[in-house]
Amino acid sequence: MIKRNETHDPSRNSWVRSANGDTPFPIQNLPFGVFQIKGDDSAPRCGVAIGREILDVSMASRALGLAGLAAQAAACMRSSTLNALAALGRPHWQALRLALSRALSQDTTLKRQQAIAKYLIPMSRVNMHLPVTIGDFTDFYTSSYHATNVGRLFRPDNPLMPNFKWIPVAYHGRSSSIVVSGTPIRRPNGQIKAPDAATPRFGPTQRLDYEVELGLIVGPGNTLGHPIQIKRAQDHVFGVVLLNDWSARDIQAWEYQPLGPFLAKNFATTISPWVVTMDALAPFHAPAWPRDAGDPQPLPYLNDPNDATHGHLDIQVNMSIRSAQMRQKKLPAQSLSLASYRTSYWTPAQLITHHTSGGCNLQTGDLIGTGTISGPQRGEEGALLEITQGGKQPVTLSSGETRTFVSDGDELILQGQCTREGAVSIGFGSATARITPASTK
Ligand code: MN
Repeated sequence: MIKRNETHDPSRNSWVRSANGDTPFPIQNLPFGVFQIKGDDSAPRCGVAIGREILDVSMASRALGLAGLAAQAAACMRSSTLNALAALGRPHWQALRLALSRALSQDTTLKRQQAIAKYLIPMSRVNMHLPVTIGDFTDFYTSSYHATNVGRLFRPDNPLMPNFKWIPVAYHGRSSSIVVSGTPIRRPNGQIKAPDAATPRFGPTQRLDYEVELGLIVGPGNTLGHPIQIKRAQDHVFGVVLLNDWSARDIQAWEYQPLGPFLAKNFATTISPWVVTMDALAPFHAPAWPRDAGDPQPLPYLNDPNDATHGHLDIQVNMSIRSAQMRQKKLPAQSLSLASYRTSYWTPAQLITHHTSGGCNLQTGDLIGTGTISGPQRGEEGALLEITQGGKQPVTLSSGETRTFVSDGDELILQGQCTREGAVSIGFGSATARITPASTK
């Protein structure tokens, strides 16, 4: 368990004014990302978000007065990816976080504030890049509510497969098509067979969907053949991003048996640019979601008392939509769902441990998707497939349009936030993308 310290103190304010008050990036958050100043041809660098500014940490190292582990960590940020920082491990991350929190606190001297302020860049002046070079992407399936909602559409009598409560189920995804928030997503073409058709045809998906997820960014990896024990699993997680696992349901329905999803999910995955660290998330830990009476206990390798009492994360994720018509009519985005990851059946540590339990090696920068996050209540469904009951019950938008699945021109906006009594709320920013028409070639 990661302990709270002065960096989480709710009374700590920053001399960076925009970091105080209503912002996803107060001084208690300090997420890492990769930015490039617009119109600047120098390489992207790693920075830290504070209010509406980005601190260019490696350039500011001397002004910040960094030494020891914190200085070593900052030196890794003179890079176009966060991989080197992620590889260092928790002692380095915590030393840097503590030093940044103190230097950006209102208690720092005016002289030092002025020296550091030279390395602040307004977010409006930058483009954000993918935060890490992602070697491998694995996507889990951890929400029993999502699995049951979707399972019911296909198997009304037996919605949840018997392995779900024993194994954190997953598939190996594709890292080449993971893009950062803001990148347009082209509607995929694929092979589709209508239920009443004798043969499939090839064309644009008619059932383009999203999946509300979080992504764990792997910090230090493990050696091939040496599984990560559950007690140590959180030490291998650098931080968390928002993740939208775009899915073409008609392509998926035809191709998924017997080996699982392939082209239905490998055309694009959108993630948010800011990595919220596990250290920043310390105040938002939660117990494992209660298992139903009669459910099995996790097998010993997935069972740890500390993980059961506070290994989960209370991160609220919400998806909203803004169609082309809504933008024309200046209507705001409309919320489609709100749920917390804490309602998912498996904790982050259980995902990491299960993934490596046969000896598979995780590597720094790997991305581990949680699977679609759906809660137990109406309004908590993390995909249109669930909200519209497989396309049978359309959603009405504020423009008067209806949707069963995503249309060209729609913008889907995934956001995340942590809120708890006695802590300052922190946010994730967003993972946003607009859909463009399918290729006609
Ligand atoms: Mn998924």
